[in-house]
Amino acid sequence: MESIGGDLRQMQRTPLAASHVEALRAAGSVANYPAGTFLARPGDPVDRFTYVEDGEIEVVNPYTNERHLASTLGPTQFMGEIAFLNGGAWSMAMRTVRDTRVIEVPRHAMLTLMSQTPEMSDIIITVFSARRRRQLDDSDSSLLLIGEDQDRSVRRVAEFASRNRIPYTSLAIGSPEAEATAHSCSIAAGTPAVIFGRSVVTDPTPDTVARLLGLNLDFQNDEVFDVLIVGGGPAGVAAGVYAGAEGLCALVVEDVAIGGQAGTSSRIENYMGFPTGISGADLIFRGEVQAMKFGTRFALPRRVVRLQKLDDENFCASFDTGQHIRAKAVVVATGVQYRRLAVDQLAKFEGAGIYYAATDIEARYCRKTPAVIIGGGNSAGQAAMFLSRYASCVHLVVRGGSLAASMSSYLSSRLKAHPRIAIQYGAELADLSGDDHLKSLTIRDARTGATRIVDTGALFIMVGASPNTEWLSGLVDLDSKGFVITGSGADSAASPPSPRRCPEFLRWVTCALAPSNG
Ligand SMILES: Cc1cc2nc3c(=O)[nH]c(=O)nc-3n(C[C@H](O)[C@H](O)[C@H](O)COP(=O)(O)OP(=O)(O)OC[C@H]3O[C@@H](n4cnc5c(N)ncnc54)[C@H](O)[C@@H]3O)c2cc1C
Repeated sequence: MESIGGDLRQMQRTPLAASHVEALRAAGSVANYPAGTFLARPGDPVDRFTYVEDGEIEVVNPYTNERHLASTLGPTQFMGEIAFLNGGAWSMAMRTVRDTRVIEVPRHAMLTLMSQTPEMSDIIITVFSARRRRQLDDSDSSLLLIGEDQDRSVRRVAEFASRNRIPYTSLAIGSPEAEATAHSCSIAAGTPAVIFGRSVVTDPTPDTVARLLGLNLDFQNDEVFDVLIVGGGPAGVAAGVYAGAEGLCALVVEDVAIGGQAGTSSRIENYMGFPTGISGADLIFRGEVQAMKFGTRFALPRRVVRLQKLDDENFCASFDTGQHIRAKAVVVATGVQYRRLAVDQLAKFEGAGIYYAATDIEARYCRKTPAVIIGGGNSAGQAAMFLSRYASCVHLVVRGGSLAASMSSYLSSRLKAHPRIAIQYGAELADLSGDDHLKSLTIRDARTGATRIVDTGALFIMVGASPNTEWLSGLVDLDSKGFVITGSGADSAASPPSPRRCPEFLRWVTCALAPSNG
């Protein structure tokens, strides 16, 4: 399967050409740092590009202050990580080993230079992506989570990080590493915690972690963008690539995770250009990097809750934080949200045994135990195949009498042939039970009413989704299911014309149509 970047350990190093270094010198300035100087610490803004002319730089472990990686950066190499593109924050600490001379180029000047010199940009982005891949492969980061399996808020941070391809290190409570870290950060042993650098995050939420990593971008109220793209699924990210490539000042705002639904897909095989398949998260990460390369910015987690059309024809989008920005055009790429089931105690077990996505994170929660999946569509089928690698067995509960109408035939044949996947047709979820965590559930045969109890702590609900359109605040017409009416239907839509409604909006909506539901 393809990944987000090359393998740093096997990549042949391509140094920047002499002409590139001359350009860096012209756009930046030379700086000399004595041995032992920290050039970056976790959380510092990645506000410049640093090229080493002479000397040596090492990655530092923030807890021990010792060298963290065996390899160091020397002359002709450069510091930096992918966060540089979006104006985020450093995730690792970097320190000079000996007296070191570097060329430093401010971020904006460097981005301009990269857009003018694609050969240089390719070298830099290839290295940045490979560095991120190494961090993800090795679970190596200054973002440290203790007690992911026990604590709901730590788990939420883990899910956020994992779905957004943010590297983190997870330590089990009671492990020697967790005890040592707790001691070094002055917290009680055995306490679940989120730590960044050496700081304990007192209110561990996706939002606070995003703030530390500079992912939520600090906007000025009423900042103006050419295009606001709401939603960071495949449609939103693709729009970000094209808007940036056309030189527009574009912003993608995402509520949960860049990648949307596709980000939860363990393997996408029907996307052009990836004959051996690619995980949805990796596919979208590549798109995100491509969009950022063109200058498109990404803000998350941020939810657009309201959209207004202003007298000057611009749009004003308000976020869940109360901030608002302006945009000359808006792309609606908010996709859908998963449907829930009307079963008692559903909310209580969401995130504690009930999941709506099957990624590496959720797979850990059903290792060697049975997993139950409700649904007969492709999402349910892909989840069953994926989870069968971890769970002792997978029960697929399907409401209808067959999978023929709802699932691609290649997938349903794989499921039927799988020795550890059992499919029950004509059945539904009847009951849930447990204390803090789901312990068992009841499946009912819809025809006979017969019930059976399955002992499981992992239930996956994949019963389709409904459109995220309520935030459009009446600017466009919706059909009875909440989908935006586009094309000729829009002309005959029921609502009376109003100066605040926007027929031209529909052009953008049409542009943002996503790939078909796989
Ligand atoms: C498990 C799974 C496997 C799949 N496998 C495949 C496959 O193999 N091949 C295939 O072609 N398709 C597949 N699909 C379908 C594919 O993922 C979707 O068609 C695609 O993701 C739709 O893209 P989108 O960008 O329109 O919307 P979405 O992916 O739904 O993204 C919309 C995004 O908008 C965000 N958002 C919503 N409201 C707001 C708001 N108000 N403010 C800010 N952000 C907001 C959401 O958080 C979300 O991230 C799969 C789907 C799933 C769930």
